[in-house]
Amino acid sequence: MNAPNTSGWKPGTPDAPTGESGIVTVTGNRGLMLEEPLIFEIGGADTCGVDLPEPSGGADRLGGLARSEPFGLPGLSEPETVRHYTRLSRQNYAIDCGIFPLGSCTMKHNPRLNEKVARMPGFGDLHPLQPESTVQGALAVIDELAHWLLALTGMHSVAMSPKAGAHGELCGILCIRAALEARGDARSVILVPESAHGTNPATAAFAGYQVENIPATPEGRVDLAALKARLGSDVAAVMITNPNTCGLFEREMKAISDAVHAAGALVYCDGANFNAIVGRVRPGDLGIDAMHINLHKTFSTPHGGGGPGSGPVVLSEALAPFAPLPFVRKVAGGFELIEEEDGVAAAPHSFGRMAAFNGQMGMFTRALAYILSHGADGLRQVSGDAVLGANYILRSLQDVLDAPFGKTGPCMHEALFSDRGFAEGVATLDLAKALIDEGFHPMTMYFPLVVHGAMLVEPTECESKASLDQFIMALRSIAERARAGDESLHQAPQLAPRRRLDETRAARQPVLAYEVGG
Ligand SMILES: *Cc1c(COP(=O)(O)O)cnc(C)c1O
Repeated sequence: MNAPNTSGWKPGTPDAPTGESGIVTVTGNRGLMLEEPLIFEIGGADTCGVDLPEPSGGADRLGGLARSEPFGLPGLSEPETVRHYTRLSRQNYAIDCGIFPLGSCTMKHNPRLNEKVARMPGFGDLHPLQPESTVQGALAVIDELAHWLLALTGMHSVAMSPKAGAHGELCGILCIRAALEARGDARSVILVPESAHGTNPATAAFAGYQVENIPATPEGRVDLAALKARLGSDVAAVMITNPNTCGLFEREMKAISDAVHAAGALVYCDGANFNAIVGRVRPGDLGIDAMHINLHKTFSTPHGGGGPGSGPVVLSEALAPFAPLPFVRKVAGGFELIEEEDGVAAAPHSFGRMAAFNGQMGMFTRALAYILSHGADGLRQVSGDAVLGANYILRSLQDVLDAPFGKTGPCMHEALFSDRGFAEGVATLDLAKALIDEGFHPMTMYFPLVVHGAMLVEPTECESKASLDQFIMALRSIAERARAGDESLHQAPQLAPRRRLDETRAARQPVLAYEVGG
């Protein structure tokens, strides 16, 4: 089947992928990169991927509720459907294509062994409502993963059900709230450092707390004196990221925890950056009460579009009694899942539940496969290699990019640069867009907020020296153009399927439904 291009694409429109050659094709295609319209523009109500006979008669069992208007979903044949999504997927960048340097996101390779294990019928075909006696193996996997997470963090207990980092933050803060309420000491404020990820203050506010900022020192770490000065009987908790989002280890974490505990508050640690310290530092030894672990970051399970996330929360002994339901308990001869119907006796202080079922089984199998294939020594090497790669980038670029916190020592798993030294009118955004033309996904931009025009680069341990060198070469050349005030940077990306989008309008006025002719 070699259908003509029915694309709604109009050659020569502003987005036309002409590239530096200036060639405009009649199809809008560019080499073997095919232009592809929306499915609503090419699909019709009269086309269908399956060929079924019309239903014959039979009494109407819908009691007058039968649909009276067309369904409104576009139809395509099977080959057209496959091509539509394959063409779109080729316009997407993925970790399987190249380095994905998004700082704070820990975009690492998803090993194929993990995928194989997750698809084994005994795991892949499970149903969450199966009787407990038929899922003993799955419960054993959850229990073994929990054991590893506890060993790696030095914590007392773990709640496996939260489904992402942010969901884990909420779980941890709800445990803290329940613990404070249990001792009759409800408090109203949560302290969050200036450099925190947006989910931290959002979580605290969502749980009903007032959020107050703790300032950073000029070296990019939490200002311990300022924190101590603010602690008081209204402070419920502090939320601290360690290593922090400036890519630095909070060396005074133990002193911070001690001061917070002395003031009767609790310590939440955002564990999104655990990849930098896994196998080297145990958060439990630093006095932390609750910390989420993003399995899709540190333990290599896919992010976002690649599958659901998972954010188990490790808890201190003080918070363990308040953990959510359900949870797995080891009993003689097997495992059981403790649910609400097991009653007050089984979990008298649990704050409730976070999700319908006990977490993301597909992520648990992948994470455990990753952990077991590395072993304890391999995980320790992961953090070492991740930190080495980030420092290689930091040192290779600091003559062309300002590294505000790179002067006082090495970074952890991510290198942070600012826009200082760029020519007037050239912004971080221009540099990020120019990276797209060079074939690289941009780094995290404008985060953390404490650095002007921030660029946060996290290579992870998965990148070879050759791939780091190529990335460094590209970024160096773009940084030199930014310093020289190269006007063409404002035009980037010039070689991508789409040029610059109006990102502000897209965020403020998102168009979420396709309207014919709209
Ligand atoms: C990724 C991240 C989060 C949120 O995790 P999700 O799994 O995306 O919800 C929170 N804090 C930091 C520092 C992160 O990098």
